[in-house]
Amino acid sequence: MSTQTSPIGAHVPVAGGLGTGGLKYAAEIGAEAVQVFVSNPRGWALTAGKPAEDALLRASELPVYVHASYLVNFGSPNADTLEKSLESVAHALERGTAIGARGVVVHTGSAVSQPVEAAMAQIRARVLPLLEALPEDAPSLLLEPMAGQGAMLCATVDQLGPYFAALDHHPKLGVCLDTCHAFAAGHDLTADQGVKLTLDALVATVGEGRLRLVHANDSKDVCGSRKDRHENIGRGHIGERPFAELMAHPAAAGVPLIIETPGRSAEPHKTDIDTLKRLRAANAEKAKDAEDEAFEGEESEKAGDEDREARSSGD
Ligand SMILES: [Zn+2]
Repeated sequence: MSTQTSPIGAHVPVAGGLGTGGLKYAAEIGAEAVQVFVSNPRGWALTAGKPAEDALLRASELPVYVHASYLVNFGSPNADTLEKSLESVAHALERGTAIGARGVVVHTGSAVSQPVEAAMAQIRARVLPLLEALPEDAPSLLLEPMAGQGAMLCATVDQLGPYFAALDHHPKLGVCLDTCHAFAAGHDLTADQGVKLTLDALVATVGEGRLRLVHANDSKDVCGSRKDRHENIGRGHIGERPFAELMAHPAAAGVPLIIETPGRSAEPHKTDIDTLKRLRAANAEKAKDAEDEAFEGEESEKAGDEDREARSSGD
């Protein structure tokens, strides 16, 4: 059972300002962590920050994360896409530093039409220098495995192995595990021990302390579908239980959960956060009961020892 509890938060819209709008939405839904876009997620434009808005996020007590543009693909055989991807992520890391973010989430990408080995060599040649140039206070680069469509470089957790190796297991490298993607890629989180096996495999592949963020999303599609369609927590094919199991796994201790679930208003997001908080509270209750039982067991054992001592001294 985790000793450190996981903050539960959401990807928040930033209309009205990165800090002002984002934190207002977070408060409305009870988010304990936030993820934001620092520029249009479906474009390449590099948006400049506003110092006053950045300062609000930096001053907030919530853990902050940035999601890089969806167009980023470090594995692309297209030179223009690769250059733009590198620029875009460098910008997101810079903006992340300015807002005090702990991590910048980037999709692991696809080799598209080139061999996987060529894509990995390219990632080593171009992304490793980016990591090496990061200042101490910069966010981690969090690799998010994908649902598994096309020539994805990384969908299952064991595929993080070659990616981490290509980047020399750089200390600034981490993982953002999206439950919907993992489920779609074939990790059956609903099976007995399914969550445990998945997280154990993740730790065995990349080591402890690398799981730095969880995207907590239910799935509209079945396990292995390779489809990336998020659903509200408990409303999809994953259901509530795996999320409780995830929060109880030692690898997820203290690791924030961010929902990226459907909903055009605050209400469904607040419901999802409330659900996860309820599961987290039930976990804590269970852990406390187990502790009490262990304590009582110890006490009765001690009493037994005293009985035996009393008997032996009476001989
Ligand atoms: Zn995600």
